[in-house]
Amino acid sequence: MNPKNTLTNREWMDQVVKKDEISKYYTNNKNFIESNNLGTILEEKYNTSTESIRKILKKSLAIETLSLKDLATLMQIEDKDMWDEMFEVARQIKVKVYNNRIVTFAPIYMSNLCVNNCEYCGFKKENNMMERKILTMDEVVSETKVLAGLIGHKRVISVYGEHPLSDADYIIDTLKAMYSVKVPTKNGFSSIRRANINAAPMSIDDLERLKVAGIGTFQVFQETYHRNTYEKVHPQDTIKGNYEWRLYCMHRAQEAGVDDVGIGALFGLYDWKYELLGILSQSIDLEKQFGIGPHTISAPRLQPASDSDLSTHSKHIVNDEDYKKIAVLIRLAVPYTGLIITVRESPEIMKSLYPIMTQRDASSNIKIGGYEESFNQSEDKQQFMLGDDSSLDQVIRELADMGYITSFCTAGYRCGRTGKKIMKLLRCGREGQFCKLNAILTFREWLDDFASPGTKIAGEKIINKEIKQVKNTFSTDDYNKLLENYNLIEKGERDLYF
Ligand code: SAM
Ligand code: SF4
Repeated sequence: MNPKNTLTNREWMDQVVKKDEISKYYTNNKNFIESNNLGTILEEKYNTSTESIRKILKKSLAIETLSLKDLATLMQIEDKDMWDEMFEVARQIKVKVYNNRIVTFAPIYMSNLCVNNCEYCGFKKENNMMERKILTMDEVVSETKVLAGLIGHKRVISVYGEHPLSDADYIIDTLKAMYSVKVPTKNGFSSIRRANINAAPMSIDDLERLKVAGIGTFQVFQETYHRNTYEKVHPQDTIKGNYEWRLYCMHRAQEAGVDDVGIGALFGLYDWKYELLGILSQSIDLEKQFGIGPHTISAPRLQPASDSDLSTHSKHIVNDEDYKKIAVLIRLAVPYTGLIITVRESPEIMKSLYPIMTQRDASSNIKIGGYEESFNQSEDKQQFMLGDDSSLDQVIRELADMGYITSFCTAGYRCGRTGKKIMKLLRCGREGQFCKLNAILTFREWLDDFASPGTKIAGEKIINKEIKQVKNTFSTDDYNKLLENYNLIEKGERDLYF
């Protein structure tokens, strides 16, 4: 047995949590949730006249982060027509910053060993019905081969329970294993070019090591920003019970140079309006302290999980109507950010949110080793139940039929367009230009290597439209360079980007 597995929970917690890596980020001795007094902001009565709302929407359209009071004002709107108008503004923002692109990815679940007892999660330590498994590096390679070589994904989010055996060393090994895979395809080769990580909060030292190993986005959800609720659903004798260690994990990431961070809340644990104010507070504090907000915001909604009454009986479960409001409000409040909706949601919800979201997963499997089916877990033994099991090919076809181009672009991160640089480019719309060119190139690769005949036809219609747009709106140099790379890709070259 690995000696790390012999640590008691208390020893592990003491070893991991560095108190000075929390308090150093306080403002006036308080964390950003306490100092913003979110409960009071929510209770105030705001002016929701059309004039005052449109003033706020103008800020969003100018890609300015809203204030907490602006967001609280929007949340008090009851008029349905005004919500329709807000959805339309959210759509315009998405077009301005990200055009008609949707980025796709898939999760790889690496390990379900966990020392925590989060009340809502099937991986919690006390769930004896859960079969435990941690992938070996050979298995990581096998999973990656399926994702990159058979499905055609270029981007993954790898997910880890919190445990001494899945610590930073293990995560680094899995990154290396994923990046080592290069699979021959019909016309070229395929590989995972960007591995994002969803794992427990870490120290600055560990995050620096992840940066060196090539982490994409570091993603951690606060679950709930409401401290009392947080402490109720995360037992205090577990490491995850430490609310502030989690609250400041992205501050530590920024300090470690991991400037591409993804935040979110698990909607359904507490009042969704409070959670949105929490997400905005975190974004504002990151912008204030590091000049960089979140690269992505996720809105996972609580799903039924094995051995979890809370997951089905929470009194804060969010209905579909409110869920759509949540997505609109994220887009308006932090307009530059990427908005991720995952297959926890149904195909109908997904489809209704395409106009305002930027990323979704597809062909997803959340069993440990599920892609290779090396480990046969029944569905009720996975972390939670999925709402949408569409294949990547089906999703791409649907998107193409609706006028969206699927982007497999991972260039920004590899060209150093992250952090402050990408924030600036996103706000002024420049990043969108690089992305448009790279979306065309990467989509061409995918169509040639993986598309079914129907999807290929639908995809080519979109590609031709995009190329025409580049011809009409970009410089002749950019257009010629695009055509040059495009022709090379058609001949079997891969991974060319701007
Ligand atoms: N162990 C790490 C952590 O807790 O941050 C990362 C992995 S955990 C499996 C990833 C995320 O799954 C959590 O942050 C939580 O938001 C989400 N999750 C847990 N239980 C869920 C449920 N029942 N429904 C939907 N999402 C859930
Ligand atoms: Fe473990 Fe994360 Fe699940 Fe909590 S949410 S039980 S920390 S895997």
